[in-house]
Formats: sequence, structure tokens, C-alpha cells
Amino acid sequence: MNTVLRGVLHVHSVFSDGEESLEKLVDVFKRLRMDFVAVSDHAEVFDEARMQHYVELCDSLSGDGFVVIPGLEFALHGGALHILGYGVKRRIRTSDMEKLVDGIHEAGGIAVLAHPPSGSTNMIGPIKAKLDGIEVWNTRYDGVYAPRADSLQLLRRIRAINLKASAFGGIDLHNVNQAQRPVYVEVDCGELRRESIMNALAAGKFSVRGANTTIPSSGDLSFVQELSIAVKQPLCRPWAG
Ligand SMILES: [Zn+2]
Ligand SMILES: [Zn+2]
Repeated sequence: MNTVLRGVLHVHSVFSDGEESLEKLVDVFKRLRMDFVAVSDHAEVFDEARMQHYVELCDSLSGDGFVVIPGLEFALHGGALHILGYGVKRRIRTSDMEKLVDGIHEAGGIAVLAHPPSGSTNMIGPIKAKLDGIEVWNTRYDGVYAPRADSLQLLRRIRAINLKASAFGGIDLHNVNQAQRPVYVEVDCGELRRESIMNALAAGKFSVRGANTTIPSSGDLSFVQELSIAVKQPLCRPWAG
């Protein structure tokens, strides 16, 4: 039997530059009736001990009808490009883009290009065929009303050669105020377990939801959706690293 689970992606805590503890964040998302959260603190601030503590805390806060998926956000090109590694439980230390994505996969994670900057197409050449997704809707930069047209366009270009790349949405939370009516993913998965959720995310068995809009993981939108996104683009602000 399949279950539909709701979860929030791309969340920062006090482990990096977020304002809230993981305990507080779990409380907030439980109250919003979410089933899971995928956290993504900045990789650069972690040493072995800190990483171990982070992963143990994610484990201990899971259970009782809620799952916390550990993860990291990696900066490349001097910070000009961010890659989310959802589900990784260890540090991956490389400044090589391709090795990073391979490392995320070897660690059992999924690799998603965060808030794609303009010019992403040229920058991500070596990983186009390997990425699991593009964050087409980052509410911190794209606003809460619609995904970013340019990021959807980038996803389409990548899917021409890599059909496992999915449309992801994330809230890039640093402050709990960003948890108000969040963009979330609705995952079609077997059970409320970390591996089951990760498998469904990797397989594109989910949709991104927010502001009365549903974006399938394929990123294929109706004409009306395309039109409404085009109208709302002026509300997007660029992410500049
Ligand atoms: Zn970022
Ligand atoms: Zn972030």
C-alpha cells in the first residue's frame, strides 16, 4: 500500500547559519502537519565531530510519526554554485563538481542544484547527466507565489539528456518565519521511513506543492501554469552567491 507523505526540503539550523535548533524546527514542521524534513546545513562548517553530532541528532529526532533526513549544502566555484546533498550522513571533501556529485551518490544521497544562478547551464556541464534534480522553486529567492521560469527552463534542458533529473522545491529556511505556508513536496512512498522517502525522491515519485500550485517532478506544466509563472517572475530576485 502506498502512502502520501508531506515534507519540507532545504532547511538550515544552528549547525550552520540557521537561527533555530533542529529540535525547534521539528516542532514547527510537526505543527504544520508535515511528515518529514530534509535539512541541509552548509557543509563548510562541519568537522568530523560536528557531523557525527548532527547525524545522531537527526536520528534521535526521527520516530514518533516524523522523519528527519540529514543533508548538507555544498559550495563550489568559490561559492558561486550550491549543490544540495540530501540524505548524506558524512562529509564529502572535494572542490571538484563531478567528484562531489559522485560522492553524494556513494554516500546514499541525492544531488540537487540549489537556486540555480544565471549561467548555470555552462557551469554544470560535467554534472548535467548526473544530477537528481534542479531546485526550480526556492522560496527564499523566488518568492512564495510561483517557481522560477529560468530554473524550469534549465531543468528542461537537462532532462533532454538526463530524465532522472526532477523538479525540486525548497524553502531555504534560516528563520522560522519562512515556515509560514511553506512550499513542500508530496511524496508517494511505501512507508514513513527515511530510506523509503529517499528512494521515492530519487525516483521522482513526488510533486512540489505551494500557493495552490502543483508541479510534477517532471517539471511539465500546463499552459495556464506557464502563464501564471511568467506573470509572477518580477517577484523573483537573483541569487548571486
Ligand atoms: Zn545556497
Ligand atoms: Zn541554503
